[in-house]
Amino acid sequence: MELYSLKDLPIAGKKVFIRCDFNVPMDEFGNITDDRRIRSALATLKFCLDQDCALIIATHAGRPTGEFDEKYSLKPIQLRLQKLLKHDVMLAKDVVGPDAQAKAAALQKGEILMLENIRFEKGETKNDPKLAQALANMAEFYVNDAFGVSHRAHASVEAMAELFDTKHKAAGFLLQKEIEFFAKTLEKPVRPFAAIVGGSKVSGKLEALKHLLPKVDKLFIGGGMAFTFLKALGEDIGKSLVEDDLMNEALAVMEEAKRLKVKLYLPVDVVAAQEFTPDSVIKLVTTKEIPSGWMGLDIGPATVRMFREALVDVQTILWNGPMGVYEMERYARGSSKIAHFVADSYATTIVGGGDTADLVQRIGLDEEMTFISTGGGASLELLEGKILPGVQQLVIV
Ligand code: AMP
Repeated sequence: MELYSLKDLPIAGKKVFIRCDFNVPMDEFGNITDDRRIRSALATLKFCLDQDCALIIATHAGRPTGEFDEKYSLKPIQLRLQKLLKHDVMLAKDVVGPDAQAKAAALQKGEILMLENIRFEKGETKNDPKLAQALANMAEFYVNDAFGVSHRAHASVEAMAELFDTKHKAAGFLLQKEIEFFAKTLEKPVRPFAAIVGGSKVSGKLEALKHLLPKVDKLFIGGGMAFTFLKALGEDIGKSLVEDDLMNEALAVMEEAKRLKVKLYLPVDVVAAQEFTPDSVIKLVTTKEIPSGWMGLDIGPATVRMFREALVDVQTILWNGPMGVYEMERYARGSSKIAHFVADSYATTIVGGGDTADLVQRIGLDEEMTFISTGGGASLELLEGKILPGVQQLVIV
């Protein structure tokens, strides 16, 4: 899959609208706790500035309800971007209101205008063509660099892209990199190719598992979702997370793996807790000996050893979903050990966004991975084999 590239657009000295995803996490004081999404877009922004463009940047942040709300103002994001770019960034008071319109019209070459939180407009999440048109009127070119939101059919992501012809729109460098990594890996992985899939539920990852099965050589399942598989195999999983209605699907996945000769690995031991609390009494037990009333909240040391052993010869690793409740220190060890192993390996290592990216960053291993996605939901949809609405607009056919 190839996308129209920003590199090929004749943007020198022109007005360019760039949809970014600066939806960064903040603490209770409004401080940005992780600015990776902003840093990841700098290449695109600098490229445009070097060509003397006037830049109009749009992003959402948080979940405002379609009207101005000070709490969700982009002020902290504007300041961080300014610092990272070492360049002034103006912030409009609205999205397509009088202030944004006036500032966009007056914008000069080399200047940057950030519109207020795009989700202050109700039409954004409704893919409203009127909002899309108002945004499109501000600029001559449209660039989508917002991978994290490209799975959403929203006005600034889909409807707006439709309004530009292929000579006036393109993917930014971040979006291009995300798609290339996932597409290349899924289409032509260097083998052996392993997927490590974890997280809470089978339901959230079932489509991805089905899509990955014919492509991988090895599949490692951890996290809460492993218990539905273990129960389907007749194990007594105590009070662990389970989706009884998906046991047949789990069995089908295991059957299909057998048929395709994919080696499927499930945990053989767990950290079992009496309660879902950070300081619960815990026990290390095999999956055959989980006491009734206890729940598995992390993979155990034998599983870590087995996963590591089976990952030794692998050349490509795709990881999506934690191995346990990594948010609580007691149940983070399994994920942490796997993260260290993946980071140290000579394989190409690709980490899905969201929780997995978060856990890798918490441990400080983000620089060691080949690629960490900036989008949790979007990268999961790529693993499910879907074409994202925002990306579809930019595919070279
Ligand atoms: P997901 O959003 O499906 O990727 O799931 C991520 C969540 O799964 C994290 O918040 C983890 O705390 C949770 N999780 C991982 N392992 C378990 C487990 N064994 N039991 C309950 N929740 C888990």
